[in-house]
Amino acid sequence: MSTCEDYVFVCPECDQSIRVNPSMREALVENGCVICGTAVTQDAFDGQNDES
Ligand SMILES: [Zn+2]
Repeated sequence: MSTCEDYVFVCPECDQSIRVNPSMREALVENGCVICGTAVTQDAFDGQNDES
């Protein structure tokens, strides 16, 4: 399985899914969903998980 540094963001509010890289993930957590503007947490991301 090939892994890259991508995550899949799924907005809990508008259900939009977007493939993002780590820096985009941080931007989304800081700024909220780019589509609807709702606040998002790291729980909204699928993929590599840096929490233990
Ligand atoms: Zn949204």
